[in-house]
Amino acid sequence: PPRTAAVASTDALHVLQEVFGYPAFRGLQAGIIDRVVAGGDALVLMPTGAGKSLCYQVPAIVRHRAGQGVAVVVSPLIALMQDQVGALDEVGVQAAFLNSTLSLEQAQHIERELLAGRLTMLYAAPERLTTPRFMAMLSSLHERGQLSLFAIDEAHCVSQWGHDFREEYLQLSVLHEQFPDVPRVALTATADDHTRADIIERLQLQDAELFISSFDRPNIRYTIVEKDNPRHQLLRFVRDEHEGDAGIVYCGSRKKVEETADWLSAEGVPALPYHAGLDAEVRRRHQDRFLREDGLVMVATVAFGMGIDKPDVRFVAHLDLPKNIEGYYQETGRAGRDGQSADAWMAYGLADVVNQRRMIDESPAGDEFKRVQRGKLDALLALAEAHTCRRVRLLDYFGETSRPCGNCDNCLNPPAVWDATDASRKLLSCIYRFAQQGREKGGARSFGAGHLIDVLRGKASDKVEQYGHRQLSTFGVGADLSESQWRAVLRQLISLGHVVSEGEYNTLALTDSARLVLRGEIHLQMKVASEPSPRSRRGAR
Ligand code: ADP
Ligand code: ZN
Repeated sequence: PPRTAAVASTDALHVLQEVFGYPAFRGLQAGIIDRVVAGGDALVLMPTGAGKSLCYQVPAIVRHRAGQGVAVVVSPLIALMQDQVGALDEVGVQAAFLNSTLSLEQAQHIERELLAGRLTMLYAAPERLTTPRFMAMLSSLHERGQLSLFAIDEAHCVSQWGHDFREEYLQLSVLHEQFPDVPRVALTATADDHTRADIIERLQLQDAELFISSFDRPNIRYTIVEKDNPRHQLLRFVRDEHEGDAGIVYCGSRKKVEETADWLSAEGVPALPYHAGLDAEVRRRHQDRFLREDGLVMVATVAFGMGIDKPDVRFVAHLDLPKNIEGYYQETGRAGRDGQSADAWMAYGLADVVNQRRMIDESPAGDEFKRVQRGKLDALLALAEAHTCRRVRLLDYFGETSRPCGNCDNCLNPPAVWDATDASRKLLSCIYRFAQQGREKGGARSFGAGHLIDVLRGKASDKVEQYGHRQLSTFGVGADLSESQWRAVLRQLISLGHVVSEGEYNTLALTDSARLVLRGEIHLQMKVASEPSPRSRRGAR
């Protein structure tokens, strides 16, 4: 009823100002908070940094003041729980957490506080929440009307399609079964349809009001370049555009993290490594320095970043392809949280495509899971290969329609495109001829990219002579394109799934869909390999 909502929002605004010291709610916060204060369920999809925490902290305080007891927040992130409890403590809110870092005595103390009604908020790890002991405490509170709400943070963890599925999250449906009248708010920054449907179904949130805020980060400029000499490309990008700025460089492996940090430091860019293989003490020190000092570059694996709230990160660079668009969005989203302009820059090449495909193929996961992962990778590759607005594609992935943004590489320097249909057909028939000739001579043979391109360009290599490939009808049919153009065509064909690169030697084979290209039923447009943009040429050294 409107009257309750109006009262609730006055209380909520009062709490926001008095407890947190902020003048006004942002975006969808007020609507979400009203809904939860009034006792309804909500599913909140908001990008990182948009202010999800207040969406349950404010209702928790309002409801507690109204005599409705304690709010229970489920979170998988221990560091985040500790940070939030520390921050709530500072503003005078009685909050505590229960997780594996506590001693038995500490945990028992908190349980006593909880049962005595002295807490406004309790954070708990999901595996602890569903234990019989904890459920008994919740029941006791519930019987006395002292369970004010449940907040389920990182709700995408309930979905296997998400990037960090957690078994324990599946148990959380018990909250609704046991305490159907206690309002729940589930929150995530991962919003694709699949994950969303999973959250609603598995957490039984059919009655939840859906709050989706735009995923657009207009101050972030997206740039994706073709890998040429990635380290030098990175160095040039940092020197030309981000001298003295704080930034994060993501790499795919620990070794590469170390090497890249060393290289940047040697080149005079202050950089620190961060990955899960480093001592906890070293990691903590590097993280602290990154947060406190100006102009440090953190070179890291994806282990770095969750819960890091540094507003003035001016760039996020990727030297390796993330797993999917969610990962790309989350990692690049760490740039420019202060709203000032920031760069998301990525270098990507053929090997990235091949490696990511292989990691999926060789993982022990089931077929259905692999199929989904491949679909997600394809979407990311399409973004990387795109010659139209990156932001339009990115937002489209999250279900938002938008117009060309004017703040991505493709909008700022519209790339020339060429029709690569013919070239693609030549390349595919060449792979086809290899296999055919192999079969005729007994024992099918397959070859890698280097040899394929030699044959297309009509290069007389030892291997060409050895296998008699001079006789192939495709020998020399592609002399008009350079080696790097052919690599780009191949990369495109692999990223579109018409060619696979297999085995220890990265040999190439056609997929079923290659036939459609060969028959001319699919047309391919490709970006003309980009010259360095005027912006980067100016400062190039
Ligand atoms: P998320 O969980 O969505 O990543 P947080 O809850 O950590 O985001 O909020 C990000 C930052 O924005 C925090 O520093 C928070 O204090 C700030 N913030 C959130 N809401 C508001 C608001 N209404 N007014 C001012 N600052 C806010
Ligand atoms: Zn754009």
